[in-house]
Amino acid sequence: MADIRDDNKPTVVVSRCLGFCHCRYNGDVISDAFVEQLKDHVNYITVCPEVEIGLGVPRNPVRLVLDNGNLELYQPATGNIYTEEMNRYSAELFESLGEIHGFLLKGRSPSCGTKDVKIYVNKEKAVGSVKGVGLFASRAMERYPNLPMEEEGRLTNYAIREHFLTKLYTFFRFGKVKDSGAMKELVKFHAGHKYLLLSYNQSQSRILGKIVANHEKKHFREVAELYEHHLSLAFARLPSRNNYINTFMHIFGYFSDEITAGEKAFLLDRFQKYREDKIHISVVLNVLRAYVIRFNLEYLLDQVLWEAYPEELLNIKDSGK
Ligand code: SF4
Repeated sequence: MADIRDDNKPTVVVSRCLGFCHCRYNGDVISDAFVEQLKDHVNYITVCPEVEIGLGVPRNPVRLVLDNGNLELYQPATGNIYTEEMNRYSAELFESLGEIHGFLLKGRSPSCGTKDVKIYVNKEKAVGSVKGVGLFASRAMERYPNLPMEEEGRLTNYAIREHFLTKLYTFFRFGKVKDSGAMKELVKFHAGHKYLLLSYNQSQSRILGKIVANHEKKHFREVAELYEHHLSLAFARLPSRNNYINTFMHIFGYFSDEITAGEKAFLLDRFQKYREDKIHISVVLNVLRAYVIRFNLEYLLDQVLWEAYPEELLNIKDSGK
């Protein structure tokens, strides 16, 4: 576990076998470019739930099985069941973590996998399987339903990676607002995220606006909790191209009367090309941002939309998976 955290970086719980330790059941370690790239930008807390519950390295593999309708973490070679141990370990870990902002876990693992983990419908291998969530990941989802949680394989997809980083850094910024206990900080946060929120989810963005307006004069803690819940709903899914184009049109409206017909046509053509997936979103954002700077549109200059996470983490590579 990281001893010293840098308060200016989000804190991410990461599977230890992703480049930190030879702790897989067979003594392997997996090097992952994204986990490596993120190292300088987050505080990592590394965990290996299977080692922490005493299974050792190397170890006989465990798997998820349905046993009389109960989901169990089962070790076929020994016949042992480790469900209780894993649940206890998870609860104790979460108690000790302090503030965290996301999870980056190893896919397909019966402990760490966040989706599509094999669950055998019986203790015998041959009788088929269904898909589910690893036991540790499942406990983490229950305890931290609002936080971003992804597995390394899915993060090779550009859109999923972009979404993960955007949500991670947004919840990190929001954590600072909560810590401040100041309503004015929440108002500032909401104003700065206006166009990012609009791009993600227009109806949740409106609800968040009403929460911040706080006409009922609720206490900050109550407002912040409600805001966090709806913020998580706003980020529940990847944003659509159409939503982004609506946002672009809003921003375009600020300066469309000030530019030439040729410039307008060029910009609208960029929007269309983005809609057709012919150009990357960063192209459109950069062109729009240049106009915002040129016309010194103060409210827009400070929008998180332009850089929702550190620019050094931008990587438009896409596995297409
Ligand atoms: S997937 Fe999780 S439990 Fe398995 S080796 Fe990696 S960190 Fe440990």
